[in-house]
Amino acid sequence: MNYPIVRFAPSPTGYLHIGGARTALFNWLFTRKHQGKFLLRIEDTDLERSEEKYIDQIISALDWLGLDHDGDYILQSNNLSSHQAALDQLLAQGKAYRCFYSKEELDQLRLAAEKAKKPFRVPTTYRDLSQEELNKHLQDKKEFTIRLKVPEGETRFEDLVFGNITVQNREIDDFILARSDGSPTYNFVVTIDDADMKITHVIRGDDHLANTPKQILIYEALSLPVPTFVHLPMILGSDGKRLSKRHAATNVQEYKEKGYQPKSIINYLSLLGWNPDSNEEIFSINEIIEQFELNQIQKKPAIFDEKKLNWVSGQHLQKSSIKELIEAIKDLDLTWAEHHSEDFVKKLLLLLRDRSKNIQDIIELGNIIMSNPSSYSQDELHNIFKGNNFEVIENFISGLEAEEFTQSNIEQLIDNISIQCELSLGAVMKQIRFAITTITYGPSLVEIIILLGQDTIISRLKKFVQHST
Ligand code: GLU
Repeated sequence: MNYPIVRFAPSPTGYLHIGGARTALFNWLFTRKHQGKFLLRIEDTDLERSEEKYIDQIISALDWLGLDHDGDYILQSNNLSSHQAALDQLLAQGKAYRCFYSKEELDQLRLAAEKAKKPFRVPTTYRDLSQEELNKHLQDKKEFTIRLKVPEGETRFEDLVFGNITVQNREIDDFILARSDGSPTYNFVVTIDDADMKITHVIRGDDHLANTPKQILIYEALSLPVPTFVHLPMILGSDGKRLSKRHAATNVQEYKEKGYQPKSIINYLSLLGWNPDSNEEIFSINEIIEQFELNQIQKKPAIFDEKKLNWVSGQHLQKSSIKELIEAIKDLDLTWAEHHSEDFVKKLLLLLRDRSKNIQDIIELGNIIMSNPSSYSQDELHNIFKGNNFEVIENFISGLEAEEFTQSNIEQLIDNISIQCELSLGAVMKQIRFAITTITYGPSLVEIIILLGQDTIISRLKKFVQHST
């Protein structure tokens, strides 16, 4: 195989969407595996909807994910002269023509066809005008669009995911290549740009599948080599509808802000449509590159499942080194644990690492554990301490003051209190945990107690009793 050249071609009309990131990832994986080139083309020709800030945002989200592109990114708007030259060529060769139907005229014809219950086709009235007729329309300054003369026959291609696709050309109107204001259409510019960039594989979302026969007709009209097409399955939400904000965060930036590690997002995205040979689901980026094959892409839609993403992310957190975690935390919160020793932070992270889904979780739970409580939820307090009975906490304080502060002594003390107070171990621990941290979940209670140390624990417990009685 020649080295593949692929592109990711986002329109800068919004933030990088999870679906776009998955498209970029599959392109990137394919080239990183086959020593190809991954190019980035910003499709900024929709002037009304494109914004500079989205270009920066898309590039920084790709950077954060580690999906580095080869060379500088390409702006579609820098290729206008090539688009124009290709249009001129098609007109000169009689493969495209000026169509003088106005939009209003076509709307009327469409309506009439609808009324008569006939399929509507754009009439080919202007396809073969004589030079004289053409000149007359041009002299009259009649507005025109430029349409491709779609030839007879059929258009076939093999999509690497969707298989053989054949479309009868008679079902395709002579479609517009350039609008009446002269601006070329999406199908036209994409084809010219892909040809200019010598793209060998067009890997993109399957929402573009229906555009492909038209693009192939343009390649053929210009005698350009047709690339291989790979359309990726759609990403749906859990209810089977197209993934949207209703289902989960759809903007890559939000996952960064929530403290997901890029390697987790990459791992999870790789599973959206790619089916590795094994049952393995947790992969490093290099493992994905090694195993990824285009022919393992499924055509059935992929379901975005936030629970699964959190599981994948939790698995990567567990494998992360303390140093890596500290760096990731500092990216989100420079002052986190700044008053604690290195040893304390390390022990705390070991406790939190295995029960968090992302870095933000670690930061938040860590903050709760590190801060001396300033208030408690009164509802929870009444629920947990039935009849405002603080016997457990009082016994625990005296026990801690009387014994050496070791793990086994603390465990023994909790056992004894459970017997004395006739409460289950779980109920005793819940009361102690709540008094120390204000919450009823978190890592091993005894380990938190040991980590915070005798003075802090006794002082928190005493303050709790003072405030609550
Ligand atoms: N700019 C197009 C989009 O964002 C992509 C076109 C393509 O990949 O061919 O949907």
